[in-house]
Amino acid sequence: MKTVQDYIRTIPDFPHEGIMFRDVTTLFNDPRGFRIAIDQLLHPYAGQPIDKVVGLEARGFILGGAIAHQLSLGFVPIRKNGKLPGKTIEQSYTLEYGEAVMEVHDDALQPGERVLLVDDLLATGGTAEAGIKLIERMGAQVMGCAFVIDLPDIGGRAKLEALGMDVHALCQFE
Ligand code: IMP
Repeated sequence: MKTVQDYIRTIPDFPHEGIMFRDVTTLFNDPRGFRIAIDQLLHPYAGQPIDKVVGLEARGFILGGAIAHQLSLGFVPIRKNGKLPGKTIEQSYTLEYGEAVMEVHDDALQPGERVLLVDDLLATGGTAEAGIKLIERMGAQVMGCAFVIDLPDIGGRAKLEALGMDVHALCQFE
């Protein structure tokens, strides 16, 4: 029986030479692969007191939307800046080269709401940390951070756990 990891394709030298890009579109493309990924991502959180699912652009929208539907919860997108139409709050974060900004609608979460944060892949943890900061700046609480892939050698899990986060990942690549 294939595991979630077996459905993920690796594309060498994308987007730069020397990068092994872990491509989850092949996981999403397969009905069984997509279903087991969603089931396994939400499994630790089913029955937990969670109010909203927050997804990080862009593959976190696909995963987070399916999880939110399955748990009968609302979904909140955190986007790269300039894409959301309403009033937003912004958070900058460091990329390999330079800085980027993520944002969320300032009324998307209420103080005290309990949130599950979702993305496809955890590398340095910088993207997820920016998401956590946005959620916490709104007075909401991150109950868990769920990823399909963890790259443990890069240290994102350790960074998020040092922030007190519960990190759940379905598979690891070196
Ligand atoms: P981090 O901020 O360094 O943890 O990088 C994680 C972010 O970069 C996530 O939003 C991922 O979607 C994206 N990312 C980085 N490398 C890959 C990859 O190999 N496959 C898919 N997404 C990636």
